[in-house]
Amino acid sequence: MPETGPTPADWAAAEALIRELPPDGRVLLICHVNPDGDALGSMLGFGLGLRRLGVRRMQATFPGPPEVPEPFRGLPGLDLLVPATEAYPDPDLVICFDAASESRLGELVDRLDTAGAALVLDHHASNTRFGGVHLVDPRAAATSVVAEQLLARCGVPLDAGIAECFYVALTTDTGSFRFDATTPEVHQLAARLLATGIRPGEISRRVFDTRPFGAVRLFGEVLGRARLEPAAAAGRGLVWTWATLDDLARHDQRAYVLEALIDSVRCTAEADVSCVLKQTAPGEWAVSMRSKGAVDVSRVAVALGGGGHRFAAGFTGRGAAEEVVAAIRGQLDTALIPTAVG
Ligand code: 5GP
Ligand code: MN
Repeated sequence: MPETGPTPADWAAAEALIRELPPDGRVLLICHVNPDGDALGSMLGFGLGLRRLGVRRMQATFPGPPEVPEPFRGLPGLDLLVPATEAYPDPDLVICFDAASESRLGELVDRLDTAGAALVLDHHASNTRFGGVHLVDPRAAATSVVAEQLLARCGVPLDAGIAECFYVALTTDTGSFRFDATTPEVHQLAARLLATGIRPGEISRRVFDTRPFGAVRLFGEVLGRARLEPAAAAGRGLVWTWATLDDLARHDQRAYVLEALIDSVRCTAEADVSCVLKQTAPGEWAVSMRSKGAVDVSRVAVALGGGGHRFAAGFTGRGAAEEVVAAIRGQLDTALIPTAVG
């Protein structure tokens, strides 16, 4: 998979799509299903930037139920959002954010054909290069890094609204600057975002450190049933747990609260690989995987129909939880990363 970023020709083509948009052109922004901080943040921040450029007819959307997870309900630019069912059927320009493959666009995938042009902003190495013009940079810590670069090239200055969106995106995908993706460039971008006056403490508390009491108790239950398999992944270890729709219902919680669960599971010292199965329908699971560095979990995810990054990936699992984990276990050995020598 290519590890290089967009070429000068890619940047020029993307900039031309934005600059040559007719004054009454309709722009549809789409981010991936079950949007996270980078999906929503990069999309809404870019949308606010386009607004500053004078784009008036613009919608932002994502596939599935039009529900924004509580942690992101304070994001600037939410007024751009429309339900997928109301999205322009044939926009002049469609721009996709943080989606590694067409399948992540759900029922909105047809816009790639009906739109006048399609631009893809992403940072997944596993990006399938769907759509027309690609700005895919696997070295970028977040899609928002690519989005900010394109806005800068189009001459849009950062303001506090754009900055808050991009800050949420950047902190989400770098684990609040804890992951190796946290390069000097990431901190330089963070500095430019903070210089607009946004409040990092308040934003982080809202996005990462606030959850309903029912979710706290639900986490206790789900963490209490976690399984540790020290022999898995050639002795590197696997830790996993699962949460059912019934668990959510008993604690009166929405599915998005489970997104933070993997961060508690992956703390396990005795396991390189961690995994959380989140039931989405009977016999269907949204699977999250993380690795501390010994296993390329995106290989596991791609082999099982999903995608993601080397150390954070996911897929849709089918069958009983035990069967899904058996499928993962079966892929771990081939996904071991050869240890560097010397
Ligand atoms: P998370 O576990 O936080 O949902 O996702 C981790 C990474 O894996 C993200 O980069 C996300 O895009 C990717 N990912 C998660 N689920 C899927 C999936 O079902 N299909 C694909 N292609 N990627 C996924
Ligand atoms: Mn991302």
